[in-house]
Amino acid sequence: MFSLLPYNTFGLDVKAWQGRLICSAADLRQQIQEPYLILGRGSDVLFTDDFDGTVLVSNIKGVQIKQQGHCYKVRAGAGEILDELIVRLLDQGITGLENLSAIPGTVGAAPIQNIGAYGVEIGDFIESIEVCDLQSGEIFVMQRSECCFGYRDSYFKQHRERRLFVLYVNFSFEDIYTPRLSYKGLQEMDLKDARAVRSQVLALRSRKLPDPRFVGNAGSFFKNPLVDEKKLEALRAEYPDLPVFTAGAGLYKLAAGWLIDKSGCRGITHGQAGTWEHQALVLVNRGQARPHELVSLGKYICAQVEHKFGISLQPEVRLYGRQGEVAWDSL
Ligand SMILES: Cc1cc2nc3c(=O)[nH]c(=O)nc-3n(C[C@H](O)[C@H](O)[C@H](O)COP(=O)(O)OP(=O)(O)OC[C@H]3O[C@@H](n4cnc5c(N)ncnc54)[C@H](O)[C@@H]3O)c2cc1C
Repeated sequence: MFSLLPYNTFGLDVKAWQGRLICSAADLRQQIQEPYLILGRGSDVLFTDDFDGTVLVSNIKGVQIKQQGHCYKVRAGAGEILDELIVRLLDQGITGLENLSAIPGTVGAAPIQNIGAYGVEIGDFIESIEVCDLQSGEIFVMQRSECCFGYRDSYFKQHRERRLFVLYVNFSFEDIYTPRLSYKGLQEMDLKDARAVRSQVLALRSRKLPDPRFVGNAGSFFKNPLVDEKKLEALRAEYPDLPVFTAGAGLYKLAAGWLIDKSGCRGITHGQAGTWEHQALVLVNRGQARPHELVSLGKYICAQVEHKFGISLQPEVRLYGRQGEVAWDSL
């Protein structure tokens, strides 16, 4: 058996039948028996049970940096830790990812849900992705336009059945610094350069989010829901202080944390599972939580938000059970 304790930031004591460290594309040539799943550092997953299959741990290392005209081209192995890459780039004067500082996990997982924070999404800097199709063994390059990046979404999430293993991510960064300070907590500051932005992001995050080394969690458990104008107006009439962000295509993004908070679910506890006192969107393991406690707490929150606001929350975290990925609605 392969312990998944070091491979899930919820800190759940779950196991897989076996684990394989993938350090190069060649490691994927051996036949992989079903069921299997790909894992980075498990900071966006909830294991609802032990997994009766093989875990392929993404561990391809290496970073290459080239200057080309007015751009820096960076090729990073999927197993590199994203925050370490950000620090390394800043040390070399390469900016762009500073707003994404301190998001846990690997480079290869970042495009899967097009991670984002403080007004920036990783997809904005990705030029292409080198992948291996685990069913055919074919290795090919996907251009940015083929990755279909959206809000916490990408081709990889939309076509899970294709089983694509990200090997390398190719980034492109302009050689001049463009501050991205649209987020409220960054606007008010006198941030002179990318390093100052990183420091401010680290400070903001440490105030709001629990550190998984001390309190098990997977960041935002639910996605911020999108509503149309009609629904927005109905909600605004009842809740004038409702936080709203435009999302394009006639849709508006609501803050899931606010909805959960107003539904009376901030800081609550169910068994050893709970919601974080400083950010209700984060479900936490208060010690020895079992997977079913986190699932039933999540279900309870969904029911409360649905009841109060008529909005159905969907998880941002990926859920894995005995045979592989499981749909939230099936639990
Ligand atoms: C405290 C905390 C704060 C967070 N803050 C944010 C935030 O601000 N914004 C945000 O967007 N996310 C945030 N997250 C979520 C998480 O950090 C990201 O989703 C991250 O990209 C997950 O990386 P990972 O390596 O741990 O991936 P995992 O959790 O191991 O995997 C996530 C998914 O990606 C797939 N995957 C992983 N590697 C590969 C690969 N090489 N090829 C193909 N598929 C792969 C897995 O199968 C799984 O479905 C936060 C999490 C925590 C714990």
